[in-house]
Amino acid sequence: MADNKSVLTVSIVTPDGKVYDDQATMIVVKTKAGELGIMPNHVPLIASLAVDEARVDRGDGNKDEIAINGGFIEFSENVATIVADSAEKQGDIDVSRAESARKRAEERLRKAKEAHDTDTMNRAEVALRRAINRINVANK
Ligand code: ATP
Repeated sequence: MADNKSVLTVSIVTPDGKVYDDQATMIVVKTKAGELGIMPNHVPLIASLAVDEARVDRGDGNKDEIAINGGFIEFSENVATIVADSAEKQGDIDVSRAESARKRAEERLRKAKEAHDTDTMNRAEVALRRAINRINVANK
C-alpha cells in the first residue's frame, strides 16, 4: 500500500484479545448518531458504537465485514481503534449459534413482555440485536 498518509490502521480489540488488525483505505462504522466513514487524515474523534457492522475497505476491491457489539471507536494519527465487548469477523461467525441465540432471546422477550418485566425485556432486546447483527453480517 502507499505511504502512511494515505492509509489507516484498523485495530479491533475485545476482552478476549485482538480480533482485527490491518491497514485500510477506509472504515465505515455505525455510531449512535449514524453512519460514520473514516478515511486517512480524518480529524481525531471518539464515538460510541451501535451493535452493527464495521466495513473495512483495504483497497483493490478487498473488503472485510466485522460484527461489532457496541463499544466505541477512537481515531487519531491514522489509527482507528475499536474497543467492544465482543466482535467477530464475518468468516468467524457461527450462524447456527447466532440463530439459537436469536430464538432464545425472542422467547425470553415474549415471556418478559407477558410478565411486564422491563429489565428482562431490555436484556433480551440487547441479546436479540447481537444475534441479528451476527446473522446479518454472516449473510452479506
Ligand atoms: P451466545 O448466547 O451464543 O453465547 P452471546 O451474544 O451471549 O451469544 P457474547 O457474550 O456476546 O455471546 O460473546 C461471548 C463470546 O462468544 C465472544 O468471544 C463472542 O465473540 C463469541 N460469540 C458469540 N456468538 C458467536 C457466534 N455466533 N459466532 C462466533 N462467535 C460468537
